[in-house]
Amino acid sequence: MNEEWLEGRALILFMHLLLFQILLSVLFIDSPVDLQKNNNEAKTNSRMSHEHQTLHRSAEMRLPCVHKALRPRQRQLNLLNGQKRTYTAAVLGGGITGLTTAWQLAQDPTCRTINLFEKTDRLGGWITSETVPVDGGNVVFEYGPRTLRSSLPGSLPLLYLATNLGLYKDLIVTPKTSPAAQNRYIYYPDRLVRMPAPKPELSFGENFDSFVNTLKEPVFNKFLSGIVKDVLAPARHPTEWAQDESVAEFIGRRFGPNVADNLVSAVYHGIYAGDIDRLSAQTLLGSIRNLEGGIGGIGGLVSGGVTASLISRSISKTKTRIMDDYMAIDVMPAGPELVRRQHDLEVLAAGATTFTFPRGVGQLIEALIASLKASGKVNFRMNTEIKALSAWESSSGIAMEYWSARHGQIKTFDYGYVISTIPPVALADILRKPEHPETKLSPVGLTPSLLRKQDYAVTAMVVNLYYPNPNLLPVEDGFGYLIPRSIPYEQNPECGLGVIFASSSSVGNGTDPSSPELSQDSAPGTKLTVMLGGHYWDGFEEYPDHDTAVKMARAMLKRHMNITDTPTVARSRLQKDAIPQYTVGHLDRMYTLSNTVRKEYKNRLILAGNWYNGLSVGDCVRQGILSATYGIGRNRLNDEPSPWRPWTSFDYKRWKLEGGIVTSPVRLVDSKI
Ligand SMILES: Cc1cc2nc3c(=O)[nH]c(=O)nc-3n(C[C@H](O)[C@H](O)[C@H](O)COP(=O)(O)OP(=O)(O)OC[C@H]3O[C@@H](n4cnc5c(N)ncnc54)[C@H](O)[C@@H]3O)c2cc1C
Repeated sequence: MNEEWLEGRALILFMHLLLFQILLSVLFIDSPVDLQKNNNEAKTNSRMSHEHQTLHRSAEMRLPCVHKALRPRQRQLNLLNGQKRTYTAAVLGGGITGLTTAWQLAQDPTCRTINLFEKTDRLGGWITSETVPVDGGNVVFEYGPRTLRSSLPGSLPLLYLATNLGLYKDLIVTPKTSPAAQNRYIYYPDRLVRMPAPKPELSFGENFDSFVNTLKEPVFNKFLSGIVKDVLAPARHPTEWAQDESVAEFIGRRFGPNVADNLVSAVYHGIYAGDIDRLSAQTLLGSIRNLEGGIGGIGGLVSGGVTASLISRSISKTKTRIMDDYMAIDVMPAGPELVRRQHDLEVLAAGATTFTFPRGVGQLIEALIASLKASGKVNFRMNTEIKALSAWESSSGIAMEYWSARHGQIKTFDYGYVISTIPPVALADILRKPEHPETKLSPVGLTPSLLRKQDYAVTAMVVNLYYPNPNLLPVEDGFGYLIPRSIPYEQNPECGLGVIFASSSSVGNGTDPSSPELSQDSAPGTKLTVMLGGHYWDGFEEYPDHDTAVKMARAMLKRHMNITDTPTVARSRLQKDAIPQYTVGHLDRMYTLSNTVRKEYKNRLILAGNWYNGLSVGDCVRQGILSATYGIGRNRLNDEPSPWRPWTSFDYKRWKLEGGIVTSPVRLVDSKI
């Protein structure tokens, strides 16, 4: 009996660790990309040597350290203020990355002018929020991002930005105890299966029974034997391990194909709408893949695999963190509101899973635009077609030729720096010599062909539905459900990726602890978002129109949840080539690209955006901050030792951060924070 109980505890611990770490943490895009990882070095050195370094930190590492880190940051800003050399910059693309980049540049007193080039007539890129009147009030529909990941320290750059923009009081924070955080489902024929997560209102025994019952669900078929496989299987030889592999291959060889097909494929449908046979494990599962060496046990006969490593790290409270997050936090300017709110933000981020804003993520874009206009430094060049972009041969700087709709003519301009946040292929198309009387421009070089290798993005159809019935769902309210690739065609002919229970993912607490629960929607009822397509639609030349998409979404909801009500509002949007895919070999390709761009454009062309180093809005904000600081060589890494400056433990003075893709050469660090 005692043994059984112990086994039960071990099982529960394991379920938490594995499912939370592998499934739920990656659900919010927890694995950004290392772009400067020195793969050659990684091949020859030990598995942890370059990509994943351990920091030996004392136990006193606590959140308030960030608060203290403000003062040196302010000093750095003051140093910056003392710089005399001024410059002009061009930012290509008006999505969240481009707008954040322009915002960060505008904070630099030595930056004279920023010209932001956007080829369409609107700013925000994939971020589109719409407030729709319905009977009894309004609902907010999102056609792009809807939930912003809350994690420490990863969410801080975005939270700092929002606070600097005056949005602190507008945050809607979904706490870890909310239904949206607790209840996440996977559809496995023919029902929604709640993923294991302990419910605080249940006793230990009740939670245990619930775990055991969940494990009996067919979706967990061969799950336990998969764990045994991982514990017993030896790690790959370092030379072989240094080669990238697909997510399906990695999960398959450690835990068996069932875990990959039934669980992991669903998660990657939720984040990337992608195919785990093509997505890169090195890029997206780096923090987990680094652990396959295990901890060694039974006289070194058994490695323990990922499972034992996760358990051991959980006991020692060691977490894998991303160096870039710390670097972005370190250079962000702190306005008076941020100085006041910094500690509150850390507490808030630690207790939440996601956050958003009352009018949707689009509110962040509105605030950014208002701030950029108020700065007086930013010129918005809307509807502008860039014709050519080229480096000067002798002097530094970039020459750009573009069609000015305002002047009705082609204009040429020289910039000190160009930061591109547009898709790589779009950039490749404009990297050529302007038809300019001057001849001293550098040859085009290899950059365009390297950019063109990064040309795979998937298309998704987003269908937003509103029903007046607030009790529509047949299961407990939650975040929503995902559909794995192992579902037979008859169960998913619409190529569904998942359904978001958008009513409950857009409610939460305000930043004032005494305020009642906040919701984006003033009308009662149920808001659902159905996501279709993704990698299933690769190679399609035609896509469903609005009526067909709504019919498909409703058919899917009827089959999966027996929902037959008619929505009173249905809006859809086809998001074409919207989600870039980090396929096998991504890190190597980005490493080569970054170095080539640095060389060919003399550190004057910087690349950012969701194609390079993480897809989430938080990742894009971080990229924007990094490129407008270290990327243009205006900031150096501060070497005052602090747990929030993990680079001081490395040979950081030799890191190349200027030009190309800015990111730290050491990608993942172990931390107690
Ligand atoms: C359906 C969907 C759901 C998502 N859900 C979430 C979520 O819940 N949470 C989350 O964190 N993230 C989510 N994401 C991801 C996130 O929204 C994007 O990764 C992010 O918005 C990308 O921002 P960006 O500025 O890098 O690129 P973009 O938004 O693509 O902006 C690039 C801009 O450049 C412009 N441009 C292109 N070519 C040129 C050119 N030649 N000259 C000038 N301008 C040009 C474009 O018009 C565009 O405005 C989602 C994405 C999609 C599509």
